[in-house]
Amino acid sequence: MQLYSTRNKEKLVSLKEAVFKGLPEDNGLYMPQHIPTLDQNFIRNLKSFSFQEIAFQVADTLMQGAIPKNDLKKIIAEAVNFPAPVHRLDEQKYVLELFHGPSLAFKDFGARFMAQLMSYFNKGENRQLVILVATSGDTGGAVAAGFYQTPGIEVVILYPSGKVSMLQEKQLTTLGHNVKALEVQGTFDDCQALVKQAFLDAELSSAIRLSSANSINIARLIPQSFYYFEAYKQVSDGTTPIVFCVPSGNFGNLTAGLIAHRMGLPVHHFIAATNINDVVPQYLHTGQYTPRPSTRTLSNAMDVGNPSNFARMLDFFSKENCSTWNNMTASISGYAYNDSQTRKAVQEVYSKHNYIIDPHGAVAYLALGEYQQKHPDTIGVLLETAHPAKFLNDMNDILNQSIDIPERLSTLANKPKEATLTDTNFDVFKKHLLNQYA
Ligand SMILES: *Cc1c(COP(=O)(O)O)cnc(C)c1O
Repeated sequence: MQLYSTRNKEKLVSLKEAVFKGLPEDNGLYMPQHIPTLDQNFIRNLKSFSFQEIAFQVADTLMQGAIPKNDLKKIIAEAVNFPAPVHRLDEQKYVLELFHGPSLAFKDFGARFMAQLMSYFNKGENRQLVILVATSGDTGGAVAAGFYQTPGIEVVILYPSGKVSMLQEKQLTTLGHNVKALEVQGTFDDCQALVKQAFLDAELSSAIRLSSANSINIARLIPQSFYYFEAYKQVSDGTTPIVFCVPSGNFGNLTAGLIAHRMGLPVHHFIAATNINDVVPQYLHTGQYTPRPSTRTLSNAMDVGNPSNFARMLDFFSKENCSTWNNMTASISGYAYNDSQTRKAVQEVYSKHNYIIDPHGAVAYLALGEYQQKHPDTIGVLLETAHPAKFLNDMNDILNQSIDIPERLSTLANKPKEATLTDTNFDVFKKHLLNQYA
């Protein structure tokens, strides 16, 4: 498998290089040079395969021999070790539940697969790999759980003191082993600045093998294509067109769906659902892309003002002698909703379908409904990207009752927190890293 940068298609790198680097030097994003199509028989017979078998077939085809089949099977077994069930709301609407992993959000798929790939590619190395991650809350939990006890890899998570929720903090600080938390007396931007400076520091880079677990790493995108096939398998009746509705922030999930489509999954249409941070729906309506600072909303994992994967989407739909916008709008429609609409949607899903949906899924529910009014002869699958218990206070307010907390979250509350308190001084941070890992 070879990958190019969206800013320079001539310079190709291997999957290993793309995974360790995360970002090309030219600040583009890595994209597969070639996206192969799956055997049509495989797609026709999806129902006869397990989720893990599907994931293996998709990964093996996409990665084109970058990893020997037996090793890839082991990687998939470790990374895809929880289900992605579909819940039926009615004959037209289905919810793809992506929250059955350790941190209760779809990001577990990407984090676990990336951890396995890095560990695999790291094998011949005699020095340990140290992953630095700055988190504002959500990503850190998935990365911590994903890399937990991965051989040869140490993880250092920097989070802003007092600015993440209690349960989020516990997800970062209670695992131990190879996962260490640094509680930074500053903001998320301070955490990010420390990580950036570490990568630029020559002394650190020569003393320690550093890497990042960046959200735009291609290793996080690949596994997100698996569950589109898994959902299709569960809802397809063989004739009715199937559409996917994706609640979006940085548009990684939607881009993974486009990859699944390009590999031959017969998706009729994609729906991009956002909160009022709607630069992509605006682009789809007007052809103008105008990034802007993000605004805080109820569905805060989608508060993104300049989605990083938009460059990949443009790349996907750019063809010679053809308008990229025309191409994209033929495959994707965009819709956006505010917080008061989102609250009403959570209540409607509960009263009408007796199902508790989180605010991100609720945005997708609204978009799917609006699309299906014009396209009634479709089966719609919306991606439920997180468990509602992750947003406990908001959910209790909206539904006016307390909702159940899954055991893997409630047991966290009693586990002791272990974190090293530090200020925003880079020299202190550097000394800490050299002491612990050099
Ligand atoms: C990260 C996240 C999103 C946004 O996903 P993208 O792939 O960045 O578009 C949506 N919902 C939840 C709950 C998330 O954590």
